[in-house]
Amino acid sequence: MAKPMLIAGNWKMNGLKASLDELALMKSAADAAPDRIRVAIAPPFTLVRDAAALAAGSRLQIGGQDCHDKASGAHTGCVSAEMLADAGAGFVIAGHSERRTDNHESDADVRAKVIAARAAGLDVIVCVGETEAERDAGAAETVVGRQLAGSLPDSVDGLTVAYEPVWAIGTGRTPSLADIAAMHSFISQSLAARFGSHAQRVAVLYGGSVKPGNASEILALADVGGALVGGASLKAADFLPIIAAA
Ligand code: PEP
Repeated sequence: MAKPMLIAGNWKMNGLKASLDELALMKSAADAAPDRIRVAIAPPFTLVRDAAALAAGSRLQIGGQDCHDKASGAHTGCVSAEMLADAGAGFVIAGHSERRTDNHESDADVRAKVIAARAAGLDVIVCVGETEAERDAGAAETVVGRQLAGSLPDSVDGLTVAYEPVWAIGTGRTPSLADIAAMHSFISQSLAARFGSHAQRVAVLYGGSVKPGNASEILALADVGGALVGGASLKAADFLPIIAAA
């Protein structure tokens, strides 16, 4: 039987109001997809309210790409989970490697954001993944295991994990199918060890240069519960075939 899937797009620092035309096409695709397939887009903060209004009443979920761990306060330039929810977001991404690197976010920082997001009623996609040097050193599972241990909250409610090898993000390179399968198996086992049977409620997405041309073989892997898509989520012409591959 075909498995449940989440196909999520992360627009990063891309998208102006005109991009809502692309989002409208993605909304139609989300509504046309089988019930087992969920579709989500995280536009930049500036588009969340408009995107949520466009997606209202549809099966397309709109989310944020990050949130602060405090509900409000003197944090210039930051956005709280409560603000995202107020703007109509239903989920938020936490711990994306670009935030871990560019903003020096630690596992503890990510965990605090996840807890704040859950408190605001948002579902959360928590990203983990090793660098190329870490993989070459044979430390990929050690790194991902440490990120899972430090970044995840105590409950699986509303939780999704995305495995995104840093070296595959935006590079056009992907791990071998065997390496993706092995890491997803490791993550599934780690989640089961920590959360017991509740771990089955946590979808584990693969992210890193997912494209129309490689989506079906990656999504077919046993422990892969969907995809987190960056560049190929910006245009419906690229994103819709990925939804279709699920
Ligand atoms: C991402 O940044 O989450 C990502 C997977 O990007 P891309 O698909 O462009 O590699």
